[in-house]
Amino acid sequence: MLQYTFEDMKKMDRSHLGDMVPLELFRTIRLIGLNQGLPLGGKGTTLTIGRKIGESLPAATVEELLMLFESLKIGIPRIIHSDEYKINIAVEDCFCKGLPSLEEEKMICDLEGAILEGSLTKILGRRVAVKEIKCNATGHEHCEYEVKL
Ligand SMILES: [Zn+2]
Repeated sequence: MLQYTFEDMKKMDRSHLGDMVPLELFRTIRLIGLNQGLPLGGKGTTLTIGRKIGESLPAATVEELLMLFESLKIGIPRIIHSDEYKINIAVEDCFCKGLPSLEEEKMICDLEGAILEGSLTKILGRRVAVKEIKCNATGHEHCEYEVKL
């Protein structure tokens, strides 16, 4: 079966509307479509989708991945802690910034964490687990992921 690649996604030929879609469309797909449209908040499905996206990204190093994360305008990531067991990645200007908080405990950037997980698993050549530990939507100062190595 023929499958699209990330390289294919960059091939665009739209004369009037160009290569951008508004952030509200991305948010709508993410939060109303996936999160609210799927059973159980789309938990397992979102993880599967995110990992698949992460594996498809053309990043060979952690630095390349972080640069890609920013150029795709998901957010501006930076490593705030790194040791042999874990890496903490803070994300400023995350796609969720400015959204109202609905539930005190509900972090909403699970897809983005799964994208990191899929890509890091490929880059590092072993299974890593990424957990969302802070989110703008739960009143934190930024979104943050903990990568268990
Ligand atoms: Zn967030």
